[in-house]
Parts: sequence; C-alpha cells; structure tokens
Amino acid sequence: HLDQIGATDADVNAFLHVDTEGALAAAAEVDAALEAGKAPASPLAGVPLALKDVFTTKGIPTTCGSKILEGWIPPYDATVTRRLREAGVIILGKTNMDEFAMGSSTENSAYGPTRNPWDLHRIPGGSGGGSSAALAAFQAPLSIGTDTGGSIRQPGAVTGTVGVKPTYGGVSRYGLVAFSSSLDQAGPCARTVLDAALLHEVIGGYDPLDSTSINAPVPAVVAAAREGAKADLTGVRVGVVPEFRGEGYQPGVIGAFELAVEQLRALGAEIVEVPCPNFAYALPAYYLIAPSEASSNLARFDAMRYGLRVEDDGAHSAEEVMALTREAGFGPEVKRRIMIGTYALSSGYYDAYYGSAQKVRTLITRDFESAFQQVDVLVSPTTPTTAFKIGERVDDPMAMYLADLCTIPSNLAGNAAMSVPCGVAEEDGLPVGLQIMAPALADDRMYRVAAAYE
Ligand code: GLN
Repeated sequence: HLDQIGATDADVNAFLHVDTEGALAAAAEVDAALEAGKAPASPLAGVPLALKDVFTTKGIPTTCGSKILEGWIPPYDATVTRRLREAGVIILGKTNMDEFAMGSSTENSAYGPTRNPWDLHRIPGGSGGGSSAALAAFQAPLSIGTDTGGSIRQPGAVTGTVGVKPTYGGVSRYGLVAFSSSLDQAGPCARTVLDAALLHEVIGGYDPLDSTSINAPVPAVVAAAREGAKADLTGVRVGVVPEFRGEGYQPGVIGAFELAVEQLRALGAEIVEVPCPNFAYALPAYYLIAPSEASSNLARFDAMRYGLRVEDDGAHSAEEVMALTREAGFGPEVKRRIMIGTYALSSGYYDAYYGSAQKVRTLITRDFESAFQQVDVLVSPTTPTTAFKIGERVDDPMAMYLADLCTIPSNLAGNAAMSVPCGVAEEDGLPVGLQIMAPALADDRMYRVAAAYE
C-alpha cells in the first residue's frame, strides 16, 4: 500500500501526511506478536488504514486541512486513533479533507484538492474526499471519515466505495476536532460492507471521555453483514422516501437507484413508499445549526494555543495577533461559516434563525420516528448527482451545499445511515451510491440490507 501511495498520490492527493516509518514499525510489531504465538489483537490486526486528518494522532501532524493548524503536533491520540492502534490496525497516514470538514468536494483544503480516481478532473466528494479516494485508488483497504452532513456517505457514493455514518454517539468524538458537535460522527469507510462492519466494531463503543457517547453495546454489525450475505431479505420492509427525487436529481442517478430498489424487491424485501415531508427543510436547518456550532467551536483557534501565529513581533497587541492569525489561517468557506453562525446566534436573530432551525430539526426527527414505525430501513440515492468537475461549484456555495440534500436528515436526527455502491449512471458511467438509513442503535439492520444488496 505504501508503494501504491507512492505510485498514485502525486495525481490523487489523498494524503496530507504519509507515516512510512510509523506504519512499518507498527506492522513489524504485529508480525512479532504473531511469531511469538500471541493471538491477533483483533480481526484487523496488520491491516493498513488511512485516517482523516481531523483526528488527533500523537506525534503526527494534524491539520484538519487548515493553514491555522500548520505545524501543530498533537500531544495525544483521539479515542478512534487509540482503538485502531490497540487493534493492531496500521495507520498509513492522514488524509486530505475540506478545511475543518466544511465542504462537499475537498476543494476547500488549504493543501490542494483531492482528485477522484475514477476521473482525475472530478471531485472525490467531501469533506472526507481523501479517505474515500484512498480506497478507490487502492492505496488503503480501510479508512476513517467523519460525517456531519454527509462527509462519509457522499464521498463514498461518488468514489464507488462504502461509507457508514453510525448512530450519533456510537463512535467516540474524543480527539475528533469539532466542527458541529451535535452532528459530528466518526465512521468506517471500506470497499465492502463486511470490511466496514469489521472496522465499525473496532472503533465503536462507549467512551467516558465523550459526554455524548452512548453507553450501550455496539450493534452487532459484523454478524448482520454476514447474515446479509445470504442475500435473503424476506420479511424486511424497505421504505422509499419520495422527497428524494425530481428537480436537481440526475436521471442516471435516479435510474441506478430505481434498479437498486427492484433488486431489493427481488431479494424478498417489501417495498413501501414513505413520505417524509419535513426532509425538504433539512438543508436550510443544517446550514444554520452547523455554522452556529462551528462559530463557537472554532473560537479556540486564537493564535495562542495551536499552530499558526502571525505578526507576533511585539509591535502588535494580543487582539491584533489573534485577528491577523485568523485572517491568514482560515480559508474563505470557514470564514463564511463563522459569519453565518455568529449572525444566527446573535441576540435579536437567535430565535428567528437558530431557534427555528432547532424546531425543524425536531420535525425531521419525528418524520423518521413515524417512518420507522412503518418500515425497517429507508432508502434513497446518497447524492443527487455523480461526481462533478473540479472547479465547477467552488464559486457557488449554494450549489455545493446541494450535494448533501439526501444525507443531512440523518445527521439532524442522529440515526444511522450508510452509502453502498449502486452501479453507475447511464449518462456518464460514474459511480452512484445507495443510501440506507436505520433507526438510532439499529446500525446492524442497515448493514444486513447493504450486505444483501452488495
Ligand atoms: N458538506 C457538508 C458541509 O459542508 C457536510 C460536511 C461534513 O459532513 N463534514 O457542512
């Protein structure tokens, strides 16, 4: 895999940092333990993985795709990082991402865009484009992403790989640099459903260091993926969300999705249409809630604690150093979010914007609750279109935001959702993703359906 990274990453730019020495040392340790007759630490011991650069890694740079963190070397491991190491997973390096996970194309990285291995002129999705491109380019068999509004599932869809957003609270956020704390969720990315399930069980589970971590057993996703592989969905009720089609959806995406629904029916599933009328308001609600939380979370980058510090020459006051550092260190999308967020939270506007968005969030959660009384899982296309061209949407934030139309409701409600490859669109031959959504803590259900479909 290190050789493959060497051979392809000048084109793909999936990695911000390759830890050759650390990876080889960790692999040698796994080998030595096996040779000494010890049982492997986990089913994934010795398997290489690419880690999104939003997780802290002790002794290895962590930038979140931002200039403001340039040169910062974390003194501690995120819980996800620690669990990977303890399981004997080999961390190859840190992957490229939109700055602070804000974006849908990885073009907002301060370190240049990642390119989609299917077509190097196209985006690999975002914010976790590096993690999914690394899988599609065969640079790693496993990777980790984070999904605040779709950043695992949307890159998975447009690169033809599997991406899972577990139930909110299912995987620890400790050491995951916060974007929008009530939405952020770490999860597994892989080329097969079973691989994703194996990784899910390694990283998932209660962590006292994260106050929103769920104190319950990890859903049995590996067993569910194995059960699904029997390809029998008799008795499983699958809901199709009618709101996710029509204007803005590429015909080839809808075509591939409809074919997938027919395949689920052929596997024995009962297909029902389940309207979720409030999903139409998910995007505007998200783009108030996520920037609001981000504006607060990003206040910590004050030039005093981490990374970049400009004009620290004695001639400038602390306030000036802070302002100049934030001006130089944050990119345009991050600044846009901070402005939207502080505006939405300011007195006089709070109730009209942030307060209304939170009410919409409750309505979306209720749509899911009533849907899951009728069906076991919901399905939709993961994204309205296939991978668009690099540069096509960079100057149009609204067009960029539309990439997450189908993924955002699950973040707002906190339930589980994943994307599995679903063929290619007829008009461009590019990968399409099938999104499968399940109730909170029923992650195993969607793995079963995904493995049966796969
Ligand atoms: N594209 C969405 C955004 O820009 C979602 C990002 C994410 O899930 N991290 O906010």
